[in-house]
Amino acid sequence: MPRDAEGSRYFYQSAPELPGGAVDVLVIGGAAAACFAALEAAKAGLQVLMLDKGIVGRSGSTPTSGSAPAVCFPQYVSPSNPESDSLERFFEDLRATGELVNDPRLVRVFVDEAPRRVLDTANMGVRYVRTPDGRFRQHATMGHTRPRTLTPIGRSRSVLGTLRRELLHRGVRIVERTAAVRLLVEDGQVAGVVGLDVLTGQVRVFPARAVVVAGGSATALFPYQSASFLTTGDAWVLGYEAGARLANVEFMEFTLIPKLGRTIIPSGGISPYLTFGGKLYDRHGERILKRYDPERMEGASRGTIVYAVYSEMQAGRGPITNEPADFNEAQWHEVPDITQRLDALGHDYRNEQFEWVPALHTCLGGMLVDAEAWTGVPGLWAAGESASTIHGANRLSSCAIPDCYVFGARAGRAAARHALRTYQPGPAAPGQAAREAEALRAHFSTNGEQPADLYQRIREVAWSSLGLSRDAAGLHNALAEIDALRRVPVAVADTASLVKAVEVRSLLQTAEFVARAAQARTESRGQHHRTDFPARDDERWLRWVVLQRSEQGVQVSAAPIPSPEPALQD
Ligand SMILES: Cc1cc2nc3c(=O)[nH]c(=O)nc-3n(C[C@H](O)[C@H](O)[C@H](O)COP(=O)(O)OP(=O)(O)OC[C@H]3O[C@@H](n4cnc5c(N)ncnc54)[C@H](O)[C@@H]3O)c2cc1C
Repeated sequence: MPRDAEGSRYFYQSAPELPGGAVDVLVIGGAAAACFAALEAAKAGLQVLMLDKGIVGRSGSTPTSGSAPAVCFPQYVSPSNPESDSLERFFEDLRATGELVNDPRLVRVFVDEAPRRVLDTANMGVRYVRTPDGRFRQHATMGHTRPRTLTPIGRSRSVLGTLRRELLHRGVRIVERTAAVRLLVEDGQVAGVVGLDVLTGQVRVFPARAVVVAGGSATALFPYQSASFLTTGDAWVLGYEAGARLANVEFMEFTLIPKLGRTIIPSGGISPYLTFGGKLYDRHGERILKRYDPERMEGASRGTIVYAVYSEMQAGRGPITNEPADFNEAQWHEVPDITQRLDALGHDYRNEQFEWVPALHTCLGGMLVDAEAWTGVPGLWAAGESASTIHGANRLSSCAIPDCYVFGARAGRAAARHALRTYQPGPAAPGQAAREAEALRAHFSTNGEQPADLYQRIREVAWSSLGLSRDAAGLHNALAEIDALRRVPVAVADTASLVKAVEVRSLLQTAEFVARAAQARTESRGQHHRTDFPARDDERWLRWVVLQRSEQGVQVSAAPIPSPEPALQD
């Protein structure tokens, strides 16, 4: 194992600084929200650096998604036609789906601005399916009262490929395979980022005048998830540690995904399978929905269906499976993202069953931000799944991607404005990276539990107590288990285990956020299902649960939701 001058193992070694000292705007992340933030900041002619734990355009939830955006184009609105869409109707759909705990001011901004950001992608070269008269073809997806969802040709691969090309064209510098592990704060102002090279374990310091966190959320928190690249809550933890407030983190969106033996199959979820006539059975061959919604059966809401599968599994009646005889060739043809993956695994889905399991799809809360995506901490903005913006308790389908575009762009613009009037921090101080590497090393030891084992145990706690069914006793136990896991010494022997150990720290902190917020919200709303408080309680809970760092740990409070701005003109 190579060693540095002080005899430390190489994987804790500090790395040389980037030439040129501080950058103007540093964007953490490499997916939808980060790309839009970096592009907007670069348009101001500033020096922009993207820091991605993975590879820009290939990491995060965005690449697994369909990248289908939902918008209401004002030019397609026909005020004299009562069937026509309108900005106000879209606003109402978002508010209703979010069960009124989304930020109405941000929802208005979103509805108004999303068409322009989607047109930006078209102008950069993304092609969308069009009607014969040249309009964008839009269809109604789950929860929308009007057709609004566009289909990008080539899905996320083409969208992200286009964004990456544009970033390079605009001179954005990209540092990949480097995880942000700490935000530098000087005199109350965010002044840069400490990064960990996940391949070599080297620690680097990146001074910056302004930082945008667009590092996604915490899709790794549960044992099953629909995205293929897993985020570990780093973004929320980075913001929280720098003083940002978090809200709505108790709200998560679960879907169902196929599972074959021990292999889970990341995919867009169960909606198309049910739409085309799929049914769900327990281990005795009984239709499970009979026990939850006997009238609508598989036509029930996604929340009910996912909850039913989770409850059946917990009651020992799993695995929950399909029945191949329910589907003919034409129906299989309608679910290609599932059949292609089953085919690749050599599974004869026409004749053999497979399992459906609840999977975390998206996190709906995050850093509390204003309409400029500002966190309230000088020098720090947040967007995409790192922030709490338009979703509230539930996500209206196809609105996450345009949310990343709108608030990513706003974050990038505001960060650029800030950078232009801020004193430029100098390059990293001599020895600063070495000190950061030392501080990181202090968290871990050479003996102790394997971080990969701890990672699994956090997920087991999340699955049993923080998932689709929550109650006071379970949340109390979860917090006790999180506390106990924090005290376990973590063994770090090489770069891979160092990276895992850093992720374990983030996941533990994230699990605590979710448990504390879920504990505080003594009602049921969205997929936050409290068995001890089964009803939605608008009288007490049209409020946000806000988390903030304090000397005693996570401080929990309830905050009023701001009033909506006046209606937009169509
Ligand atoms: C299967 C699936 C299908 C979906 N389909 C749609 C759809 O069609 N339409 C829609 O609107 N929404 C859809 N969604 C939701 C949507 O894709 C996501 O909400 C959105 O892509 C999130 O984008 P993001 O940029 O915020 O984060 P992510 O896409 O999650 O990206 C996070 C980025 O941050 C980086 N990162 C993480 N930690 C660090 C760190 N410590 N340091 C540096 N970088 C870090 C990651 O490498 C990654 O680049 C879907 C989601 C899934 C899972």
